[in-house]
This record gives sequence, C-alpha cells and structure tokens, in this order.
Amino acid sequence: MLKECVVCGTEFPCGPGQITCGPKCRDVRARAKRREYKNRVRSENPEKYRAQKREEKRRRMAREREATAGLRAEMAARREREKLELAASKVRHCIVCGNSFPAKNNVKTCSEDCWLERLREVRARPLRKLDPAVRKAKKREYYYQYHAKRAAALELINDIKEKGIEALL
Ligand SMILES: [Zn+2]
Ligand SMILES: [Zn+2]
Repeated sequence: MLKECVVCGTEFPCGPGQITCGPKCRDVRARAKRREYKNRVRSENPEKYRAQKREEKRRRMAREREATAGLRAEMAARREREKLELAASKVRHCIVCGNSFPAKNNVKTCSEDCWLERLREVRARPLRKLDPAVRKAKKREYYYQYHAKRAAALELINDIKEKGIEALL
C-alpha cells in the first residue's frame, strides 16, 4: 500500500506508524513539530517558555565550553609560560643597594629591607630640602616636643604613685 509523505507529498510504501518518505523528511517534520511545541508554550505559558530558553542557552554554553576547554587551557598555559620567560629575561637594579632582581612593574627595590630604607629616605626628603638653619630649628622643635611629652608622662606616673588614682581627678 502506498502513502503520501506529509512533508513532500512523494508516495512511499507505507510502514508501521510512518508518515514521511525518509530520514530527510522525518527530520524536517521533527523540526517543525519542535517549533510548533515551542510556539505553543510561548503563547500559553510565557514563564515556562523563558525558563526553557534559559536552560537551552545554559546547555549550549556548557557544550561550547566543553568543546573549547582544552584549547583554552593550552592557550592559558602558553601565556603563563611567556610571562615567566619575559620576567626572567628582564632584570632591574635595586635603587638602594644596586642588586639585580627580576623586573616587575613599579618595583624599584630588591627586597623589603631596601624598600623600607627607600621609604625612610623619601620621608626625610621634605626636611632635607629646607634651609639648614630652619632644618636645625625644626629638629630641635621635634626633640623638645618629644621630651616635653615624655616629661609630662613621667610626672603623671609619679603623681599616681604618690597620690594613687586621686592624681587623675
Ligand atoms: Zn518526503
Ligand atoms: Zn636592594
């Protein structure tokens, strides 16, 4: 018995449950069915439709990630290797002690000690720029301030020793 394919209309020998003439038309028909189903969900249940879309996208992305994972790992490894090679090929000289060290952006000293030394130097700079007489006066001022504070603290301690907690009242 012959039957007409629902997709292309070609006549074909009828098998059990078969409504298309071959794999090509079967695929066309399956795609159309899927599209129809999606459209129905979209109009009847927009929330479900959006959820399905999200799930589809998630699966697609996961497939893509899987397909490119090896390639990306390889590229990352190469970048890392190149970075290391570049770092090893460049050296810089410490501005404090002159030792050489692997160059890094914005790093000018070879070690923490040199960095601290440099920090002290930079901090002392504003004072050094001053006129020697003014600098001397400033230093003396700092000195007096320090000793005045120290003397006041010692006095308070003595008072507390003599008068007890009354000294603070
Ligand atoms: Zn057909
Ligand atoms: Zn150094």
